Amino acid sequence: MNSRPSILIIGAGFTGCALAHDLSLRGVNVTVLERGEIASGTSGRTHGLLHSGARYCVTDPEAAIECITESRILSQIAAQCIEYNGGLFVALNDQDLAYSAAFEQGAQATGIPIERLSPQQALQREPNLNPNLLAAYTVPDGTFDPLRLALAFAATARQNGAVFLTHHEVQALHADGQGRITKLTAWNRHTGQQQTFTADLIISATGAWAGQIAAMVGASTVVKPTPGIMVAYNQRLVHHAINRLCPPDDGDILIPQRRMVVIGTTSFEVENPDYIPITAEQTEQMQRAAEALVPAIANTQRRGVYMSARPLIVSGSSGRSLSRTFKCYDHEALDGLPGLITITGGKATTCRIMAEKTADLACQKLGLSAPCRTKDVPLRSYRLYYS
Ligand SMILES: Cc1cc2nc3c(=O)[nH]c(=O)nc-3n(C[C@H](O)[C@H](O)[C@H](O)COP(=O)(O)OP(=O)(O)OC[C@H]3O[C@@H](n4cnc5c(N)ncnc54)[C@H](O)[C@@H]3O)c2cc1C
Repeated sequence: MNSRPSILIIGAGFTGCALAHDLSLRGVNVTVLERGEIASGTSGRTHGLLHSGARYCVTDPEAAIECITESRILSQIAAQCIEYNGGLFVALNDQDLAYSAAFEQGAQATGIPIERLSPQQALQREPNLNPNLLAAYTVPDGTFDPLRLALAFAATARQNGAVFLTHHEVQALHADGQGRITKLTAWNRHTGQQQTFTADLIISATGAWAGQIAAMVGASTVVKPTPGIMVAYNQRLVHHAINRLCPPDDGDILIPQRRMVVIGTTSFEVENPDYIPITAEQTEQMQRAAEALVPAIANTQRRGVYMSARPLIVSGSSGRSLSRTFKCYDHEALDGLPGLITITGGKATTCRIMAEKTADLACQKLGLSAPCRTKDVPLRSYRLYYS
C-alpha cells in the first residue's frame, strides 16, 4: 500500500548516515544495511578534523572550497558534535616559511579567512608549541566527535522513518529480468540467516569497500583503499588544531580530542581495507612529527595507535596526489547496470554535500521532485539514535 519509492543504502559510515537523513527528508523509504555497527568502518577511526579547507587550499582548491562551505554548514546543523576551536598553521623551518606565499594566495582564492601571527602571538595562544616556530596563521578549523556525528545523522534519519539494520553484511547483488539491480542478499551476523531485500534503487556508501560491492556485479572498481595511521597521547597539550605549514604530508596535523591529542596521518595503499598493518616505523614517524610541533609530546604517555582506510578516488597517480573530492557513480551510465549507484571518496567534513549530490541523482532516477533540505535542518541529539 506504500507508494513512496524505496532505496537500500549499503554502509552506515558518515556517508551512508548523511544519505539516509537526506533521502528520508525527501520522502523516500530508506533501509540502511551495515555489516558492523554505525561508524564501524573508516568513519569511527578518523582523525576528527573539521577541515576549514586550508590544508588543501594550495594543492586541491576544489576540495578546499567544499571543506570551508561544508564545515560552516556542519557547525550549524551538528553543533553538538563539534568543538569549533580554530586551528593554526605553523612554520618550523625556512622551507615551511617559503610556503607562506602560496598558502596566503590559496586561502584568498578559496575564501578561507586566515590571519598571520608572530611567533610570540602563536605561543601566547598555544604555550606548548615548539618555541622555535617562525610564523603561524589562524584558520577556522574545528574538531568533531566521529561517533556522535554519525549517530546524529542516523538519529535524525530514524525519526523520519529510515530503518538501520546493523550487523547485516551484504553478500550479493541481483538483477531482475530487465537487468536492473534491485535486490540484494544480506547475512545477519547475529542470527546467521540470509535475507533478501528489494528496492527501487541500491546505493553503495561503503567507502574503501566500494570496489568490493561493485565487483559483485562486475561494475567498475572505483576507489583505492589508502590507509593512514594515527597516534593518540594521554594529555590535551593543545586546544587548537595544529597544522604544519607545508603541502599535505605525513604527520602534518595534531589535533585535540577530548583529554588527548592525536597526530596523523600516514598514507599508503593496500588491497584489502580489512587488513591494515601498523608498523613501528610509521608509529615512530608520527611521534617525530608530533614532537616537532609540540616538544612536550616526548614526555607524554602514548594512549594508542589506530588506523583506517581512505576511500580515495582513482584519478591517475597514487597516494596523496589523488583527489580528496568525492564521486557519485551512476552504474547505469558507466557499466550498463541500472539500479545501482556508488558514492565514495570525499571526507567526513564533506559528507552532507556528498549525500545531497547522491540523493539528487537518486531522485532524478526515481522521477521524484523533492529538494534537498539538509542545510537547514538541525540534527537530533546523537543519544536519540538508541532511544
Ligand atoms: C586516517 C584517516 C584520517 C582521516 N581524517 C579525517 C579528518 O580528520 N577529517 C575529515 O573530514 N575526514 C577525514 N578522513 C576521511 C573520512 O574519515 C572518510 O572520508 C569517511 O569516514 C568515509 O566515510 P564513509 O561513510 O564513506 O566510509 P566508511 O565509514 O568506511 O563506511 C562504509 C561502511 O560500509 C560498511 N560495509 C562495507 N562492506 C559492507 C558490506 N558488504 N555490507 C554492509 N556494510 C558494508 C563498512 O562496515 C563501513 O561501516 C580520514 C580518513 C582516514 C583514513
